[in-house]
Amino acid sequence: MKTFLFVKKYPTSMPKPKVDQDTCIGCGACVAICPDVFELGDDGKSHVKNPDACDKCDCQAAADGCPVGAITLE
Ligand code: SF4
Repeated sequence: MKTFLFVKKYPTSMPKPKVDQDTCIGCGACVAICPDVFELGDDGKSHVKNPDACDKCDCQAAADGCPVGAITLE
C-alpha cells in the first residue's frame, strides 16, 4: 500500500500593501475599504500607514478596487 503525503503551504505572513505614488490619483477608494491600512497624505496621495493591519481588513479588495492599479501586495 502506497502512502501519499500532501503538504499544503500556508503563507507565513500576511502580504504587505504598497502604493505606487506615481500612479495613485488620490481617489480615496482604498482608504474607504481599509482605513486602518491606508490614509490620504497632504500630497493628496494614498500612503500605507499600517501595513500590519492588513489581516484585519481586505487589502486585496482595496488593490482590486484601485482604479489605476496603484496598489500591490507583496
Ligand atoms: Fe490612490 Fe488607488 Fe488608493 Fe485611489 S484607490 S487613493 S488611486 S491607491
